[in-house]
Amino acid sequence: MPRGIPSATVSRLVTYLRILGQLEQDQIGRTSSDQLAGEAQVSAFQVRKDLAYFGSFGRRGSGYEVASLRRELRRILGLNRAWNVAIVGMGRLGQALADYPQLDQYDFKLVAGFDIDPAKVGQVAGGLRIHHLDELDRLVNELAVDIAFLTVPVEAAQAAADGIARAGIAGILNFVPTVINVPAGVRVEPVDFLAGLKRLAFFLTTLALPEEAAAGTAA
Ligand code: NAD
Repeated sequence: MPRGIPSATVSRLVTYLRILGQLEQDQIGRTSSDQLAGEAQVSAFQVRKDLAYFGSFGRRGSGYEVASLRRELRRILGLNRAWNVAIVGMGRLGQALADYPQLDQYDFKLVAGFDIDPAKVGQVAGGLRIHHLDELDRLVNELAVDIAFLTVPVEAAQAAADGIARAGIAGILNFVPTVINVPAGVRVEPVDFLAGLKRLAFFLTTLALPEEAAAGTAA
């Protein structure tokens, strides 16, 4: 995998993959950068540029074969294998995620939950057994955990992330609205629901403004 791929490119690859999955479901055999661009709401140039980081796909003028481009994108994104996921923090959000149906359909398999609340440890939520966080080190290898969902309160986030990194888990999907520091070799992807709401408030405010005022806001 080439290094230095912009994170926005990776996000768009995920979008292209979703579109290709839909095309395959609709039994459409071929597609083009124009079609992918239209569905992904980017330019065809952007699609070609994103794909060019990884080699050449398809033939000039004849577009791409849906199944083979989909297979390539899955390989590039690391989705040609299953990823084992543990949830650290089995409160409201952790339990809702444990209940998420068929995550394994998307190549991610929930294998365990972790918490520090004695009332939760030993319970089963959404089919997931909840272990004490102290067990993380021991169970990471046994359960082959690759990724942790971090769903603890803000004040517990850094310590929990330290424990996750120490246990050897290299990927954290961070649902906690705070920045966490991790050692080199550990990747954190934030899922910031509050930031999304604030961006939405900005765009709704801007849309509601008369044109000149909106131009002033954008400046
Ligand atoms: P919650 O209080 O219901 O659950 C937090 C859980 O984390 C509890 O079970 C607690 O015992 C556990 N915990 C505390 N310290 C821990 C530690 N060191 N290690 C392991 N577990 C620990 O909170 P929640 O509503 O599920 O939210 C969890 C996080 O997700 C918060 O940071 C919140 O801001 C964020 N979040 C929540 C929602 C939501 O809709 N509930 C949405 C987006 C983001």
